[in-house]
Amino acid sequence: MLYHITQVHTPENCPVGDGGSNSLFDPNVDGVRLIGRYGANSEHTLFLVVETDDWQALQKFLGQSPWDHEPLLDELVRQVGTGLGEPCAGVPPIEPDTTE
Ligand SMILES: [Zn+2]
Repeated sequence: MLYHITQVHTPENCPVGDGGSNSLFDPNVDGVRLIGRYGANSEHTLFLVVETDDWQALQKFLGQSPWDHEPLLDELVRQVGTGLGEPCAGVPPIEPDTTE
């Protein structure tokens, strides 16, 4: 299956000078073929086209790169709290089902 991935970061979190945009993914993960990589550098946006049939490999491709996940967690907590109509203390982790 082909995937088009759009990675966006803020200027404050820009990896330029610290590994560059290639540090935002791991192209050496088995089972994922990087077909294309395109950058809109002034927009701090990276577009990737990858092929894989292994979603866990895709997670590793994207998830093994260092990134600041706290703003995402804060946003998830805010959205869940908004959906529930009350403040939320946290979001439970979602783990993949590995019982297959
Ligand atoms: Zn950038």
